[in-house]
Amino acid sequence: MKKKRIAVFTGAGISAESGIKTFRDIDGLWENYSIEEVASPQGWQKNPELVNEFYNLRRKQVLEAHPNAAHKALVKLEKKFDVTIITQNIDDLHERAGSKQIIHLHGEIRKVRSTVKSSLIYTMEGWELKIGDRCEMGSQLRPHIVWFGESVPMMDNAMSMVSVADILIVVGTSLNVYPAAGLLGYADRNIPKYLVDPNPQNTGSISNLTIISEKAGDGVPRLVEELLNTA
Ligand code: NAD
Repeated sequence: MKKKRIAVFTGAGISAESGIKTFRDIDGLWENYSIEEVASPQGWQKNPELVNEFYNLRRKQVLEAHPNAAHKALVKLEKKFDVTIITQNIDDLHERAGSKQIIHLHGEIRKVRSTVKSSLIYTMEGWELKIGDRCEMGSQLRPHIVWFGESVPMMDNAMSMVSVADILIVVGTSLNVYPAAGLLGYADRNIPKYLVDPNPQNTGSISNLTIISEKAGDGVPRLVEELLNTA
């Protein structure tokens, strides 16, 4: 029998228990940096050293972090379901937990890319990108991150996965960052949807939604067991 398809949409909250701070722990700041300064093409133009330092610190933090119970539980779902993870996160904790199909909407911190040819993408060994590190065409490398104001190349792919899903699971996102948050609108109205987040927000327009107001490390493993038992 064909496996049911589950789309899982994750945000910064799923990695919080791995020690990676969410976006809005302190309003308008991300780890004490102004979001506009470090997450926009204008910020990069104005002060590449500052932007590079910010992402170097994020990369270092990600390398020191480990997948938590929520990342690991989602891997177990693959026993009985066809699972696609669509993440807004730039960390690689879903990969390291062992999930097979992962779409990164906002880029990947472990990668850097050319500033003249965006298809020239490299995986970094360590954490430190230096101003002066160049691609094979001689241009400065930048973090492989989708900044505010830039297009989201993986969006079409993510939309088609959500539109064919039989079940949608959303974990640890404030549903504030567009166009990613708009993805939920592509799911069939009638399929079961679950949100695991201790502080659920912006859920008003989502049909057939069960809210699990718990931390990901508690709520996701329990939900996964329930889905596996009833499949
Ligand atoms: P957000 O910071 O706007 O919202 C985080 C959500 O997680 C909130 O709803 C909060 O209630 C919830 N949360 C906090 N602790 C949780 C826990 N233990 N379990 C479950 N949920 C928890 O995050 P967002 O909606 O993902 O948007 C942030 C943007 O910033 C994303 O686009 C992402 O690219 C970027 N970001 C990524 C990382 C990462 O890669 N780990 C970290 C911070 C920010």
